[in-house]
Amino acid sequence: MELPFAESWKIKMVEPIRKSTREEREQWLKEANYNVFQLAADQVYIDCLTDSGTGAMSDRQWAALMMGDESYAGSRSFFELRDVITRLTGFEYVIPTHQGRAAENVLFSALVKAADVCPGNSHFDTTKGHIESRKAVALDCTVDEAKDTQLEVPFKGNVDINKLEKALEENADKVPFIIVTITNNTAGGQPVSMQNLRDVRRVADKYGKRVIFDSARFAENAYFIKTREEGYADKSIKEITREMFALADGMTMSAKKDGIVNMGGFIATRHQDWYEAAKNFCIPFEGYLTYGGMNGRDMAALAIGLDENTEFDNLDTRIKQVQYLASLLDEYGIPYQRPAGGHAIFVDASKILTNVPKEEFPAQTLTIELYREAGVRGCEIGYILADRDPVTRQNRFGGLDLLRLAIARRVYTDNHMKVIAAALKNVFDRRHEITRGVEIVWEAPLMRHFTVKLRPLG
Ligand SMILES: *Cc1c(COP(=O)(O)O)cnc(C)c1O
Repeated sequence: MELPFAESWKIKMVEPIRKSTREEREQWLKEANYNVFQLAADQVYIDCLTDSGTGAMSDRQWAALMMGDESYAGSRSFFELRDVITRLTGFEYVIPTHQGRAAENVLFSALVKAADVCPGNSHFDTTKGHIESRKAVALDCTVDEAKDTQLEVPFKGNVDINKLEKALEENADKVPFIIVTITNNTAGGQPVSMQNLRDVRRVADKYGKRVIFDSARFAENAYFIKTREEGYADKSIKEITREMFALADGMTMSAKKDGIVNMGGFIATRHQDWYEAAKNFCIPFEGYLTYGGMNGRDMAALAIGLDENTEFDNLDTRIKQVQYLASLLDEYGIPYQRPAGGHAIFVDASKILTNVPKEEFPAQTLTIELYREAGVRGCEIGYILADRDPVTRQNRFGGLDLLRLAIARRVYTDNHMKVIAAALKNVFDRRHEITRGVEIVWEAPLMRHFTVKLRPLG
């Protein structure tokens, strides 16, 4: 008999979690203004809000914390981190930051100015925020396939090369860089192929432009290249990451994802001029160059996390768990962005709550229903997250309206996946009775989803 698949680790430390009653959850939802970001974590049974900073560190990482060098300048932990990053990416210059958006803030302060155009594939919300707040344009050049959740294509996160060429033709003198997000978070944790990265490089070279990888999930992207793209099955993940980053000029990184640490990030580049320019913003915004926004011990743990999470077995365990959850949703007929992405399942709310008009935010409504059902906290990646158009101030209803179930790395077991799927099925079974959504009572001008206050309608 063939042995079944199992995790590539065992558990050394546990943290109790608590179930709640439906009455409790109803009250807590009300107090949170129907925004799950406003719930206390203790009010959540299974937390799928995000995979950011929620991973479980390994015994080696915890041991590394004790070995961290807290020297202000020239910390040994910085050099350990830099050396791992150089080994994985080929980039020689590294600036640690306190998280991914800080890397964006530091680097974009040096590179982006008003009226610039930054083409890319579904810029992440903070990335878009850092571009738009500098009065520049984040131009989305994602392949159209990404918009059809039921289409089964292997690299749905790709950049549409024709759109990119057109953007460069029209705006060549206004483009400070092209930014490719690997994996494409907003499109559903969908990977970008090596071929597509090569094509982006070719177009960039043609117009004399540089390329940044927004690399939060670069290791998961490498896993998909290994398992889905021809010619990579026999290459190691580390060989693949080297080949990917050889096609870029620099990267911003949220280490809270594929670094498997709870806080951290960095900029890395091969170009001294970018490094010199970014340095001027790192020191006032983040800190001195050999710690940026991080403790020495956190850099030490990150160095190990990056090394571990670019090993196949660790990634295989992770991606197979996400795929297991997807297989349960398949069994129940629940539509999601296909195929399953790297870090999350993105449930297609617009295909489920068909009686809720888009002006009443179906994905947010589904997020609330899932929490109400079982204390499972997901996250709306839809019309609320999309914010208003900066010029017309109208809600942006053009994109997808999804409920994201993000899976923390090395935290929950497959039994938790079963609970999530069953809770969602219970909501799915009564989907036709759900006819009203929510309305916005208060919102912030930018990145409103974190603090928006809502009221249920009907
Ligand atoms: C999380 C993330 C960021 C921002 O990183 P933080 O660490 O949350 O500041 C940027 N880009 C992508 C693709 C991300 O997933």
